[in-house]
Amino acid sequence: MKAIILNSEEWEDQYRNKQLGLVCFRDIEGVTQGMAFTCPECGQEGWIPFTIEGVVSNHKWDWNASKEKPTLKPSLLSTGCCGWHGYLTDGVFNKC
Ligand SMILES: [Zn+2]
Repeated sequence: MKAIILNSEEWEDQYRNKQLGLVCFRDIEGVTQGMAFTCPECGQEGWIPFTIEGVVSNHKWDWNASKEKPTLKPSLLSTGCCGWHGYLTDGVFNKC
C-alpha cells in the first residue's frame, strides 16, 4: 500500500477517519522529529520517533530523509490494534 503523505492540516482533518496508511512528518525548529501514521491495516494512529544526530536514544527509527518516498528501518509493528508488522520502503507499506 502506497503511503498517503499529508501536511499537518490535512492530518488533523483526516486521521480520525481511520483512513489506512496516512503519514504526516513533524518538524520542530527545522528538524524532523518523527512521523505520525495510521496503521495500514486498521487505521489506528501511531507515532514513529526518528533517530536524530547527536541525540542518544535506544528505540528510534532510521529515516532516509525523504518526505516523498520515506524509508524507515527497522520494521514497524502496530501495537494495541491489529498487530500489523511490516516495512515502510520508498513510500510504500509492505506487510511482512
Ligand atoms: Zn492496526
